Amino acid sequence: MKASMCNFVHESENGDLYLYNSLQGTKSLIFVNSRKASKIREMLSLEYSEEEDEDYKRLVKNGYLIEDDADEQQAREYKFLKVVSEPRLNITILPTEKCNFKCVYCYETFEKPGMSIETQESLISFVKKNINKYTGLSVHWFGGEPLIAMDVIENLSKEFISICKSVKKTYMAGMTTNGYLLDPEMLDKLLKYHVYKYQITIDGVEKTHDFQRPLMDGTPTFKRIVDNLVNIRLHAKSKLFNIAIRANLSKSIYESFDEYIEALHHICGQDSRFSIYMHQVSDWGGERVTRIKEELIVQDMYVGALEKLKKSPFKFNYYVHLGKLDSESCVCYANKLNYFIIGSDGTLYKCTGNFVEDCNKIGKLESNGQISMDKNKEASWVCNVKRVMDKCKTCYFSGNCLFSICPAVQVRKLDSSICSFEQQYLEHFLELFSKDVYQIIE
Ligand code: SF4
Ligand code: SF4
Repeated sequence: MKASMCNFVHESENGDLYLYNSLQGTKSLIFVNSRKASKIREMLSLEYSEEEDEDYKRLVKNGYLIEDDADEQQAREYKFLKVVSEPRLNITILPTEKCNFKCVYCYETFEKPGMSIETQESLISFVKKNINKYTGLSVHWFGGEPLIAMDVIENLSKEFISICKSVKKTYMAGMTTNGYLLDPEMLDKLLKYHVYKYQITIDGVEKTHDFQRPLMDGTPTFKRIVDNLVNIRLHAKSKLFNIAIRANLSKSIYESFDEYIEALHHICGQDSRFSIYMHQVSDWGGERVTRIKEELIVQDMYVGALEKLKKSPFKFNYYVHLGKLDSESCVCYANKLNYFIIGSDGTLYKCTGNFVEDCNKIGKLESNGQISMDKNKEASWVCNVKRVMDKCKTCYFSGNCLFSICPAVQVRKLDSSICSFEQQYLEHFLELFSKDVYQIIE
């Protein structure tokens, strides 16, 4: 036997071990009590092997110890092909490209209005004609702010649900919303349309959030969003939904981070339907980002925030970060074959990072459900062979990321490539996750 090149071992301050194998994903997570740490380390470094030992068997079963002739390079390639050709149709829909917010760092231009009835009919016709090629349909509502185009969401959802039901295919949906209009009544309505997963951004405590994310006319938004979420937690009976609260970590948020954690606790309580996601504000270009240059944080601050979360008496669910330890979530949707974004005017895109650049406009939804696709442009997003950097070849995380972090770096010919937060800060995340996600060796 040999040790997998995809093994990651983190030792905490008190000597416990956290194990992760990137080729196997989250199901491989193992927590080792400090009492057994040296034995497990010896097994992983092949100094001690005992085939009948239960702990040894567990390391084999979870891919940490593999056959001598196992080819992990090939295993990564095979996994990549499987992940990018997932047989489900995934569509991100912009029911409108207008927004009721004016966030300081937003890259969108807000020029295009709601989706016309003709474009909606053509999209319905496309799904009707093509659904049989797939195992099911997943929709993600994006924008602009999708909830200001609820009429479009209702019309398309009803049709998609009915089409999928008639041919016995599964249908599910998610949404990225600013949360301003998401009160318990709206949630009830959306759940009827199978919208189960939500991402909502709350940028710090009231002062910073209201500076970074006001309404178009400057009206503050923090209080209303928090009230909506607390009301949902207290009054929504359904257990089917999950709301991920995203923080775009900036200097101002970091400076009042303890207060922010308390605000998050006030929203989420101990409710497992809520989770939090820590994002580092990046430079996506544009005039608005220039205005907040001094707000961009450095690596130490991101680590500092994770450390504060770790030491906090309040415990949160981190299911988005946890999900990124599986390739299906870690590999960007822009890399996937059966995935596209449809703008409110019928333009087809691959990446949600920039809707202005020509390289991202890969086609158009024509009338009667016909799609005209620029196959060369589409291929430039899907094919990733040129993206492998030298450091990737021996990277322990490569069994998960499969070299596909941000296809836009290659397509837009950017000169740098940043690995995911989960890769960069893995040891901190492993200590943040609840022990429930680990197999325990003690
Ligand atoms: S992109 Fe980053 S995380 Fe992925 S294999 Fe390369 S070095 Fe590792
Ligand atoms: S290609 Fe890069 S910028 Fe675009 S959605 Fe994927 S990760 Fe984001």
